[in-house]
Amino acid sequence: MEDLRQKVKEKVWSYKEDMIKDIFELVAIESVQTEAKPGMPFGEGPALALDKSLEIAQRLGFEAVNLDNYVVYTHSGQGKERIGVLGHVDVVPLGEGWTKKPLGGDRDEEFIYGRGVSDNKGPCIMSLYALKIIKELGIELNKEVRILMGANEESGMQCVRYYREKEGGFDYAFSPDASFPVTFGEKGGFSARFSASKVGPGPVKLIHIKGGTAGNVVCPKVDVVLEAEQQEHDEVLEKFTAYLAANDLKGQSIIKENEIQLQLEGVAAHASTPEQGVNAISHMMGFLQTIMPHVPFVAGYNQCIGLAYNGENCGVDLHDEYGRLTFNVGVINTEEDLITANIDIRYPVTIEDFSPHRDTLLANLEKCGFEVKNVRMGKPLFVPPESPLIKTLSAVYEEITGDTENKPTTMGGGTYAKNFDNCVAFGATFVGENNNIHNVDERQNIENILRATEIITHAIIRLLSL
Ligand SMILES: [Zn+2]
Repeated sequence: MEDLRQKVKEKVWSYKEDMIKDIFELVAIESVQTEAKPGMPFGEGPALALDKSLEIAQRLGFEAVNLDNYVVYTHSGQGKERIGVLGHVDVVPLGEGWTKKPLGGDRDEEFIYGRGVSDNKGPCIMSLYALKIIKELGIELNKEVRILMGANEESGMQCVRYYREKEGGFDYAFSPDASFPVTFGEKGGFSARFSASKVGPGPVKLIHIKGGTAGNVVCPKVDVVLEAEQQEHDEVLEKFTAYLAANDLKGQSIIKENEIQLQLEGVAAHASTPEQGVNAISHMMGFLQTIMPHVPFVAGYNQCIGLAYNGENCGVDLHDEYGRLTFNVGVINTEEDLITANIDIRYPVTIEDFSPHRDTLLANLEKCGFEVKNVRMGKPLFVPPESPLIKTLSAVYEEITGDTENKPTTMGGGTYAKNFDNCVAFGATFVGENNNIHNVDERQNIENILRATEIITHAIIRLLSL
């Protein structure tokens, strides 16, 4: 065992520069989803990234297949059982404000930089090298091992569904697209749009409201336009200032004739951890309650949702031993006389059937005057912590890192793992590591590339002997 660890380590470290070079080649391609073209279901960028993945895999000595520009997979070894390592080569848009080259090439002593170095092109290359090293060490592949690189993780995961339809599943699989140690559960999802009228009695009218960047982000800023006669202005502004002060919030106001424009700032966070943000929509509704309590949307919101992050006010504050339901309202808009907003719920991993809770939620929303549309539900992922897959991955992580403090965990986000049985997220980010994923200056610690590659190598070896 000690001997194998040493051999793997030496091999991994000897490939340091090759790995960085291959990561940069892949990162140079801006593989953001665009309009589909013939034979390119996710547009040109993702297709080019798949071409490059195929080229790199073949150069590293693998037999590899580009499955109709949905995924590239390598296949090695033989046996009844199949092991999968699942990563993705599509990326989120670059965004503005980079201080490093977003399409790769920049590095310093500690880090390499570029969109996708960490999420998730880097881990794809690590997985290829892990399997290459296993082959070079002459370890017998008594199961089939596939490294899969998908092209539509960030915007729908159609790629792996297509793969699953054509090629089936895995006996054991993991996706190095989250954090170490192993994530044995991913919460279920529920989303919907709800609306109610913006028209109510009283001297102040709500003309327009707009806020939010995406459904899965806690709304960081809301703008509202009100209409009122001159004599109402002071009172509205006083109440706004008082609300901001009482809740320790920032905001702005502009008056133009009979129009009052108000802006309220919250703090963005991922919808799976709403308590880490401050929801500007909920606070704007809290303020509007003080000046227009009978506007249907405002009244309904404060009754049924309010400032709660766990669905406390609409009967779905559920939890299990692994975590609590989260409730986020991400985007709000005005359409004619209606205000519409969206809900993003992540429900606990052990709730197999959310439908009774969905019914409770919908009934409560309707009772509060909302019309609900576009209801969508997605099942949670739960692989029992005592199953061989979790025990194996967890043991490998502990042995290689010596970290016995951080235990297998669950999360609110979703990975490829949700699309397969017996598949979980495992790596490739370490506890406490911040790689600016989905942000500007995305980066990847170079030493952690090597440590993660060692772990992935041992994980595959150990799964081979299950
Ligand atoms: Zn990812």
